Amino acid sequence: MNNPEKRIQELTDIITRLNYEYYTLDNPSVSDNEYDRLMQELIKLEDMYPNFAKDNSPTKKVGGKVNESFKKITHEIPLLSLSNVFTESDIITFDSRIRKENINNPKYVCELKIDGLSVSLRYKHGELFYAATRGNGIIGEDITDNVKTIKTIPLKLNQDIDIEVRGEIYISKRTLSRINEERRRDGLEPFKNARNLAAGSIRQLDSKIAAERHLDAFIYHLPNPMDYGIKTHFEALEFMKKLGFVINSNNKLVEGIDGILEYIQEKTKIRETLPYDIDGVVIKLNNILDQMKLGSTVKYPKWATAYKFPPEEVVTKLKDIIFTVGRTGQVTPNAILEPVDVMGSTISKTTLHNEDYVKEKDIRVGDYVVIIKAGDVIPRVESVKKERRIKELPEFKMCENCPICNTPLIKKDSNYYCPNLKCDARHIEGLIHFSSREAMGILGLGERIVEDLYNLGFVKKITDFYHLEKYKKELMMLEGYGEKSIDNLLNEIEKSKENSLERLLFSLGIRHVGLKTATILARKYLTLDNIMEASIDELSDIPDIGCEISKSVYDYFNEEKNRELIEELRNLGVNFNYLGKSIDNPLIKDKNFVITGTLSIKRDELKDKIITNGGKVIESVSKKTDFVVLGENPGSKYDKALKLNIKILNEQEILDLLKDS
Ligand code: NAD
Repeated sequence: MNNPEKRIQELTDIITRLNYEYYTLDNPSVSDNEYDRLMQELIKLEDMYPNFAKDNSPTKKVGGKVNESFKKITHEIPLLSLSNVFTESDIITFDSRIRKENINNPKYVCELKIDGLSVSLRYKHGELFYAATRGNGIIGEDITDNVKTIKTIPLKLNQDIDIEVRGEIYISKRTLSRINEERRRDGLEPFKNARNLAAGSIRQLDSKIAAERHLDAFIYHLPNPMDYGIKTHFEALEFMKKLGFVINSNNKLVEGIDGILEYIQEKTKIRETLPYDIDGVVIKLNNILDQMKLGSTVKYPKWATAYKFPPEEVVTKLKDIIFTVGRTGQVTPNAILEPVDVMGSTISKTTLHNEDYVKEKDIRVGDYVVIIKAGDVIPRVESVKKERRIKELPEFKMCENCPICNTPLIKKDSNYYCPNLKCDARHIEGLIHFSSREAMGILGLGERIVEDLYNLGFVKKITDFYHLEKYKKELMMLEGYGEKSIDNLLNEIEKSKENSLERLLFSLGIRHVGLKTATILARKYLTLDNIMEASIDELSDIPDIGCEISKSVYDYFNEEKNRELIEELRNLGVNFNYLGKSIDNPLIKDKNFVITGTLSIKRDELKDKIITNGGKVIESVSKKTDFVVLGENPGSKYDKALKLNIKILNEQEILDLLKDS
């Protein structure tokens, strides 16, 4: 370590930023394992050099901030975090610290560490009085209305009792997939993991949204057990169960290190089969008097700890690197792997993105590579096990010619492209894209059949799908296709003519136009003809549509052959209109909005809502600005708005205005 003081400052700054992204924005930029690694480095350095530790160090604070839009609730007993352990020897150290306090043969309760966010629930006379987030540990946010939408949290207990309990609000894996699917369809960024979705949902100002998200909860802590004559944590769990709370059925009373290790082993095995995400195992000392004897630090109790699962990674052999050509002509290297099981799915192929990715990691055919899969994310080659490279392997070399048509490739930024517009691969990929789920969504028209149709010469361009009827007899000769399935397929193709504009626009495969951009354009212009007539300047004035996108859209519609294709689609009766809600809200329409500060709703979501309602979101405040939407910690835009006397709206006010539509 060259300069520990500098490194401590650096880590303090990085972790503070990561905390803000995670707790306030619900949008982390690094994995939890990476975060934990940085935090452990800081803890160790502060231990070694306590003089350099900062007063505002994240090691001394419970992460999280209180959102000003919510009413505040002060916790009578602070809601703390948990210390972390990662290895068997860390667990032995945890146990021996407890034994040092003359606690002999300690019993522990092992529990699943549910990946959600903690909640404090207070009941008066057996009725839910309020619910609060952990916040900064001392003050939390009042989320009572949202919590009332959670079916697994009782509004009334089985006893007329005054009590506080604590637990974890979470979202099931199934709900996460469903919501992400819907978001992808709507062109919105999917949530990175269940925890972020749960946290984002419970901190919605509109409890209808929270209700739609189908949250759930497990209760795991009784802060005042003595008040109810309870002497152990395990008894407290039983007691809370009798009151009507949902207690996780995996909780187990164990003895000594062996009991803990066995539990961890068991739960690691079933982790994948659980309907919700867990990120570790919580180990709690069972006896309440012993817990009190040990006490807490400012950040966590000394009588409990969280064992964190190691990152989900497996090692497998890289058998080959092959190149594929996408619909835009981009040539991508792909890893062909010795099939391997990663978190429940078998992986034998994964993208290597581009030349830089492979070279930076020095990935070579024959290497043993580490594959990781986190949350809802596609598995990726994380690194190379260089120590297992026993003989010299040839370095990776990007192909120079198109693997399909042999045309020399051209390089743009970090990517290579096949410039041949007639390249077969490009055509097939374009056709596959057209029929894919998020584009025209033609059921039964998967990759394999599109390839067959292309190779048989039945479909060479997208409009040919709509003439397939004439090949019905030939199609019936294809293996696996009967009359009924062909009829179904033709029906589905016909039905796709009714899709809303954004799907058609996305399915055309215009460079840089994903479903999100397509949706923005469709909402704004309402018909394909309007988009085709838009100038580059007009397009690039739309928020979220940069110069690159607008040029790409403009160029596409100004190319003769594309205009011919659009005319063919029109003659076939394909819908060119936006069918989604295009709302003209007179309070919002044609008004200019500037957003500043942090909001509990995602900024992109708010932008989308304003645009859908006919408004515009601009970057800087000027006389032309009609409203400034103010979040937490606003920037200089707020000062400017005050100076120019521009109307300020808080989050609730803008959401109310949007609701008026
Ligand atoms: P934590 O998640 O390590 O552990 C404490 C929390 O565990 C409790 O507050 C509670 O909500 C939860 N929990 C789940 N099941 C429990 C059970 N059975 N009993 C008791 N508690 C249970 O600590 P934290 O302070 O909430 O968050 C820190 C962690 O959050 C980090 O270790 C990291 O994993 C993640 N994080 C990630 C980033 C990032 O950028 N990726 C940033 C900040 C935090």
